Amino acid sequence: MTAAICIVGSKNAGKTSLIERLLPELIARGRRVATIKHDAHDFEIDLPGKDTWRHRQAGSGTTIIASSTKVAMVRLTEREAPLEELLRLVDRSYDLVLVEGLRRSPLPKILVHRSELGLEPPHVLGEVWAVVSNGKTDVAPAAPRFRPDEVAALADLIEQRLLGGPSQTPAWNLPALLAEAGRMHGHLCPGQVLGVRMAILGCERLGIFDPKLSKRLIAFVETDRCGADAVQTVTGCTLGKRTLKFVDYGKLAATFLDTETGRAVRVAARESARGASERFAPEELDPHQAQLRAYKALPDDELFAVEEVRVALSEADLPGRPRHRVVCDSCGEEVNDGRDVSEGGRTHCRACATGAYYAPVGEAQRKQVRA
Ligand SMILES: [Zn+2]
Ligand SMILES: [Zn+2]
Repeated sequence: MTAAICIVGSKNAGKTSLIERLLPELIARGRRVATIKHDAHDFEIDLPGKDTWRHRQAGSGTTIIASSTKVAMVRLTEREAPLEELLRLVDRSYDLVLVEGLRRSPLPKILVHRSELGLEPPHVLGEVWAVVSNGKTDVAPAAPRFRPDEVAALADLIEQRLLGGPSQTPAWNLPALLAEAGRMHGHLCPGQVLGVRMAILGCERLGIFDPKLSKRLIAFVETDRCGADAVQTVTGCTLGKRTLKFVDYGKLAATFLDTETGRAVRVAARESARGASERFAPEELDPHQAQLRAYKALPDDELFAVEEVRVALSEADLPGRPRHRVVCDSCGEEVNDGRDVSEGGRTHCRACATGAYYAPVGEAQRKQVRA
């Protein structure tokens, strides 16, 4: 379940204002943050007279209102929804949930206190990790103190204790790479998302964070479908530079070879990723959209199998000037890079030696075509 922390305090202590300041701070650090507001009394989200209110008045137990940019649901409950149920409503692409209220939950707390209100801070269950106050207060004496404007320090504490330390400076800007892949490929499809993430993962495992600049990478793509373009976008490897090799296996998989160290990793999309994407967004009716969302958000190990491999790359396959050039004894065309075949002292191109993928249109056939 997504990590969560409660911001608690008496009414008007500044809980919402603190959340308003914490959100941009955490988002700027690359965190995806959701919020939950717990109302100790009751809330009215449907204003009397509105259509959804009228639905409910007429007996609807669950009312969903949806537009092209937002979805909201009002479900009547007989008991207060337990914490786990609320947190489950937040999908797994989020790193953190800030909960306003729920002071009796076992979650860690940030207690917001404002002494001039003259109110005792509310009784809180769970551990108080921080007290936010603009004056002296003796509540939760063991907890560190912060002023309401010390959001950076508070965000540090949240990252330290809840998220395993500061986020790695994102070497990969996933949204930007996806946009670039979509432009290059013509559309942003699930294959682009998988291909982009596959390439990022391969590079990361090799410790290459600037594949386009370092020029150490050779990528072997095992498909000539969408994902192959995405690998090209992320890595900068291309067929023409001899840094992108196509191996016709019909698989969404690729191997990334560091030509400097000789290390290579093969990343293959898991067959189970398809099912995982269906489970990820069951409410999404359009399977294409569900896959797009899931493939952006699911963790690497649910999407890909990664293994360290060895790749034997011959001298003739390396980038750089052709090392070998001959002329075919049969067709007279030039053949580079040792792709020629020697037989009985004669040199042939592969087309002449073993048959070509094309057949010349002869005089008789030409007439047929014209007719
Ligand atoms: Zn595509
Ligand atoms: Zn030939």
